Parts: sequence; C-alpha cells; structure tokens
Amino acid sequence: TDSSRARSGGPDNGDGDGEVRVKPVVAVVGRPNVGKSSLVNRIIGRREAVVEDVPGVTRDRVAYDASWQGREFTLVDTGGWETGAAGLAAMVARQAEYAAQTADVILFVVDATVGITDADEAVTRVLRATNRPVVLAANKVDGGLQEADALELWNLGVGEPFPVSALHGRGSGDLLDAVIAALPETAEPEEEDDDLPPRVALVGRPNVGKSSLLNRLAGEDRVVVDSVAGTTRDAVDEIIELGGRRWTFIDTAGIRRRFRALQGADYYATVRTSSALERAEVAVVLMDVSEPLAEQDIRVVEQVVEAGRALVLAFNKWDTLDEDRRYYLEKEIDRQLSRVSWAPRVNISAKTGRHMERLVPALDTSLEGWNTRIPTGRLNGWLKELVAATPPPVRGGKQPKILFATQADARPPQFVLFTTGFLEDNYRRFIERRLREDFGFEGSPIKLTMRIRE
Ligand code: GDP
Repeated sequence: TDSSRARSGGPDNGDGDGEVRVKPVVAVVGRPNVGKSSLVNRIIGRREAVVEDVPGVTRDRVAYDASWQGREFTLVDTGGWETGAAGLAAMVARQAEYAAQTADVILFVVDATVGITDADEAVTRVLRATNRPVVLAANKVDGGLQEADALELWNLGVGEPFPVSALHGRGSGDLLDAVIAALPETAEPEEEDDDLPPRVALVGRPNVGKSSLLNRLAGEDRVVVDSVAGTTRDAVDEIIELGGRRWTFIDTAGIRRRFRALQGADYYATVRTSSALERAEVAVVLMDVSEPLAEQDIRVVEQVVEAGRALVLAFNKWDTLDEDRRYYLEKEIDRQLSRVSWAPRVNISAKTGRHMERLVPALDTSLEGWNTRIPTGRLNGWLKELVAATPPPVRGGKQPKILFATQADARPPQFVLFTTGFLEDNYRRFIERRLREDFGFEGSPIKLTMRIRE
C-alpha cells in the first residue's frame, strides 16, 4: 500500500490533482513453465480475450481486469516482462523485484510436480525482503496424487501452499479467497447514475452570448433582467429538451442575471464558473467571434480542462463574421486553442439560430470521449507495442521501464503508468497523443499519472 511515492503530472494535470484511486494490483510471479499464464487465464476467465476488437494488440499482454467475490483488481502477468537477463534465476528474481515494487499482493506460482528449484528459491529471497503479502499457488495439482507434492512447498517459507490446477480449475476458489483477503482496503467506486439528464455548464466571459444562447435553446425570448444584480441567490438549474432528450443546464440563474452589468465582476464570474463546472459533466465554452479571442476566453477553457470536464467549443455571433475576420479568427484558434485541439467545435449564432442542431452531436461526442474506458488487457497490448516501437528516452543513464498501465477511472479518463523511472513530459504527451489517435477520447481531457518504483 505504498502509494505515497506516487507522482502525478500528466500533460493536462495541474498540481492539485490529488491521489488517483487505482484498483489493487496482484502480480503473478514464478519461473517459466509453472503455468502462470494458464492461471491468469483461469482467473480472468478469458473475459478480455473475447472482446478483442483491435487487430494486432492480442500479443504480449501483461495486465488484465479481474474480480472475485465482487472485489476488483488488476492482474499482472510478469511473464510479459521477460527481458533476457543473464540466467534463469536472475531473470525470475528481477521480475519478482519489479512485481514486489508495484503490486499490492504477490501471487507466487510454483510447479508442485517439480518441487522447489533454484529459481523458485531466488524468487523467495526477493519476496522475503519485501513486506508485500505473498499467496503461494502450488500448481499442477490436477488430482489427489499431487496433494503431497503441494505440502512440500511449505519448505519455501512463504506460508501455506494452495493446491490448484490452472488447467482444470481445481482449487482456484480457495486461492482467490486468499488473494482477496490479502488485498488492501480500498474505497468503493462511486455509483454513477446514467438515468439523469446530462449536466451541461454554459460558460464563457461576459457578453459572449450565454444568456442569448440559453434563451434560444429554451425556446423563449424572455430576457430576465435582474435589478439587484450581484446579490447571491441559489443557483437554479433548468432542464431543457434538445434533440429529443433532456439536458440539465447548470446555474442558469447565474447566466440570466447578466453579470456583465457589474464592473469588476471578473473574480465573481470565475468563481461562478468553477462552481458550475464542479457540478457539470460537460461544458460548452462560448466565445464571441466578433472580437479577438481574449485571455479570459482561454482562461475559461483552461478551467474546464483543469476541472476534468468534457468540452465543446462554441464560437458564437458567427453572423457578424466577414472574410477578413474569419481569417484572423482561424489563426487565433490555431495559436491559442491548440492545447484543446481535441475538442469539437461548433460555429453558431444565438441571434439567427445558425447551427443550433449541431450542439447536441457535439455534446454527445464529448460525453462519449469522457466516458470511454479501455479494458486493461487491451490497453497493455497496445502499450507494449507502442513502447517497443518508441521506448522512453534514457534519463540519467537509465532507461525507465513501463511495466504496465491501467485506466484508473473515466469521466475523465485517467491512466496510471507503473514505471521504474520518471517519464519525461514529452514522452507522456506522446503517449497521450497516441491514445487519442487510437482510442478517441474526442472532447475529453485525459489524465496520465505515473507510479514510479525505482
Ligand atoms: P452573456 O453575458 O454571455 O450572457 O451575453 P448576452 O447573451 O447577454 O449577449 C451579449 C450581447 O451579445 C447582447 O447584446 C446580445 O444581443 C449579443 N449577441 C448574443 N448572441 C449573438 C449572436 O449570435 N450574434 C450577434 N450579432 N449578437 C449576439
């Protein structure tokens, strides 16, 4: 449960990122041919293998999603880490070392029919030196005849051997019970209620047309002017039907109250925006194309990314655009919004109603990207190929090794890379770019963090 050394800092991460909740990791170690992969397959029930739909990523996976008795964990097959170190015992010991550094629980597999070998002893020495819980699997106990062989493995001194047959499934329930019992306590993931209408925050600096757009969407030309602007009232959310579905627009009272009436309302608007983002799933950042993009526009976009919300960029007042302005606008977008080039764009006019119908597809795209989850097996198959083709740059004479990765969360997608060294910003950006190319995530920020065990 050594998470204190986790470091964060993906391309999109601010410092206030906090600790990422990662499922517990169970690493399967043991010398070649003891049946590690068979046992892994037995435990995951080949669930991930059957949903494979990306050609070329089935080979060399190292990590999988697994669960037993309702407890979820990441199962890591260290067989995928073989690096051709000198000598079998040395190689297996090295794997065990990595495993001990990254995993919460070690599942140590020994072939009961062969008995204790030098390599098994090398692994045992490594495991003893760590404080990780070890569960010992005595594999290939296919029938009663091998039970006695299993008992001999007490001599390893790492506790009770659980007789199993990865081939036939025998004993795996008791083994998994022991694994689960050894897992650290973790907070249960929050329930997500998919039945409620998606929550949209309409944000942007004063005068870009937020209340005009809201009125247009709500199908009413009523302009609510509040004579006591600036007095705080409870935020009011409105449910608006768009594209045949319901959407909750957050803090519409705040939008309709027209904060632009207030001078020096900048700070207040920022606070208002962050509290709306807090409750939103997706943000529409509205910008006014009749004026140059302002620092304040960029700041709102950054607020959305930092809050980890899905993002749609809406360029309003398109009716005012002439050729000349349009040319400069594209330049401004390229220059100032390149950081969010993944966000869908709509060019609209709240005044004329231009392209209102494009808003819903853009919202859907962003929410889909935001909700995307990549199964661990698939992610690691992909990552392994990526790293083989473009390894992380050497740093301080050492090449950091990426052992495996998991997607710790969605909404927004958060990835945790388990590594043996620090990965440069550039390399993490490279991974993010490739994740986007191969898996989408359109309209969503992505967070990449590292868990470094040197
Ligand atoms: P808010 O402060 O972001 O809520 O902005 P408002 O909705 O109050 O709009 C500010 C001003 O821009 C008002 O005078 C609107 O009439 C005008 N406006 C809003 N949308 C459009 C548009 O699409 N085209 C044009 N030409 N003017 C717009």
